[in-house]
Amino acid sequence: MRAAWEGIDPAKAWDSHTHLIGTGDAGSGITVNPRTESLLDPGQYARRLFFLNAGCVHDAAGSVDLAYVDRMRNLIDGMRPGVKMLLFAFERAYDERGEPDAEHTVFHIPNHYARDVAKKHPADFEWAASIHPYRRDALAELEQAKRDGARAVKWLPSAMGIDPASEKCDAFYQLLKKMDLPLIAHAGLERAVLGREAHDFGNPLRLRRALEAGVRVVVAHCASMGEDRDLDQGANGPYVESFSLFTRVFEKYPNAYGDISAMTQVNRAGPALARVIENQAWHARLLNGSDYPLPGVMPVFSVDYLVSLRMVQESAAPVLREIRAHNPLLFDFVLKRHLRSSGKAFSASVFETRAFFVR
Ligand SMILES: [Zn+2]
Repeated sequence: MRAAWEGIDPAKAWDSHTHLIGTGDAGSGITVNPRTESLLDPGQYARRLFFLNAGCVHDAAGSVDLAYVDRMRNLIDGMRPGVKMLLFAFERAYDERGEPDAEHTVFHIPNHYARDVAKKHPADFEWAASIHPYRRDALAELEQAKRDGARAVKWLPSAMGIDPASEKCDAFYQLLKKMDLPLIAHAGLERAVLGREAHDFGNPLRLRRALEAGVRVVVAHCASMGEDRDLDQGANGPYVESFSLFTRVFEKYPNAYGDISAMTQVNRAGPALARVIENQAWHARLLNGSDYPLPGVMPVFSVDYLVSLRMVQESAAPVLREIRAHNPLLFDFVLKRHLRSSGKAFSASVFETRAFFVR
């Protein structure tokens, strides 16, 4: 564990990808689509339980939202002073005309809630706003978020119904660029959250419009899961690995970034993870994130699997397992610091992400 911190300044180590969730039971303004609580829709129901269990939150009335935040603060306590989590708000789905689409909104974590949690615990948290670019008040909301200290804007295009390649995003991109606020967008297959399920919107190539506009774009998980159409071979181009499309975009645009959150999950680790570790020239534009609460979910993050890939030394495995049982955040960090591929490791700079957000 000591070795994991060597060469890292904790004050610069921001976890750039964490999810703020809850049920809205403490006046947070969070809303959860009733479908997610109904057994008539077991998929949604399971996802919700999955998330709440991962954060060690139990279904006592009036306590879920607060317990979730307390739990995160506890985990940060187990890191070194200075470490912070960037909490993501989560926008509603909107339709093409910019009207809220309640039916397809899985849940809504309002910007004001993420802001308030971060303001209340400034030593532990920063926050990222989530704003749908089709909203009529999108630009005003973005300006407000910036004034309120948001460090980034977060989108999950497939769930929210955002086509990043649409001209409807242009004014939003211009303002992001002007304010020098980065956009963090999920790309590739997204299993954790369903919504509008417009999966094509997660195609990394669609983010080129934002990149061309000069926005700094962070592609979540380096699009390391799933397949998307190769749109450079036409609208009906063949499906290829989303990661290969990410690579194409990442290598072309100096303002393209990738976060390595969740890349150690069993359904993602492998060739993509090895490539981002081995390609040291990429590290200056890679950001560490935990995708909390996901590392708290046992089966998804498997130490044994990474040992089998020879990316983690067998001798480190028992310690990692032990850490995971106590502190999934620390586990995620120590694990990533121990990863090796062809003798290479992630550079310390990947973990020192603060400078990317504070400029
Ligand atoms: Zn995530």
